[in-house]
Amino acid sequence: MIYVENLHKYFGDLQVLKGIDQHIARGEKLAVIGPSGSGKSTFLRCLNMLEIPTKGKITVDGEEITQHGIDLNRIRQKMGMVFQQFNLFPHKTVMGNITMAPMTLKKLSKAEAEKKAEELLKRVGLLEKADAYPAQLSGGQKQRIAIARALAMEPEIMLFDEPTSALDPEMVGEVLEVMTDLAKAGMTMVVVTHEMGFAREVANRVLFMDGGHIVEEGTPEEIFEHPQNERTREFLRKVL
Ligand code: ADP
Ligand code: MG
Repeated sequence: MIYVENLHKYFGDLQVLKGIDQHIARGEKLAVIGPSGSGKSTFLRCLNMLEIPTKGKITVDGEEITQHGIDLNRIRQKMGMVFQQFNLFPHKTVMGNITMAPMTLKKLSKAEAEKKAEELLKRVGLLEKADAYPAQLSGGQKQRIAIARALAMEPEIMLFDEPTSALDPEMVGEVLEVMTDLAKAGMTMVVVTHEMGFAREVANRVLFMDGGHIVEEGTPEEIFEHPQNERTREFLRKVL
């Protein structure tokens, strides 16, 4: 579904991605782990061209998205993204947040968009919050709404960048539960996370990044039980 070939990214003189090669198949659940500053977010943001790669090629559904002149809005509609900091529109209700993109980009009628939003709100367990504003929600609720909002565009793949890192500990579980349900429903997912339990139980493949490289990758069992690389071992010693 997604091919990444020889991906490099510089910010000025700073080389952040140093040649990433990956194939992400439909239905895969990829967990990306690694120390702060290793390039995890940049890698994720390159997948939907929120960051423009300096060099390399990314292909989605057979279409090269790194070529000049491509309609990035159309490509990004295939990919939902959930950030650490929710990024909900503060002046819109929950319903307004979820229906806005489907109405403007997919040209759904208000009634169609609201019907779909209600289904999604049920799915994340927050139907009763439809008329609330983001400021009236807890962090965990905001993140579940952010996931519902991304799903409203019916993406083929969901990208998560540390979706639970800004949450109070007691709210992490409710967000991981929604993500686990999504994984079970067959969604293709790439998740940058510090939640090693989630990576172990939900991911089918784990990438360990360090210094702009994918240093090691494998099944959760390979990475967590039998890490081969010393840097992977050192990282896991610190976080487990
Ligand atoms: P991670 O998500 O693994 O913590 P990032 O991909 O956010 O790592 O960052 C990798 C490196 O790139 C860091 O040194 C960071 O400071 C730098 N970086 C990230 N985004 C930018 C940017 N927009 N401009 C300049 N430097 C950046
Ligand atoms: Mg990051």
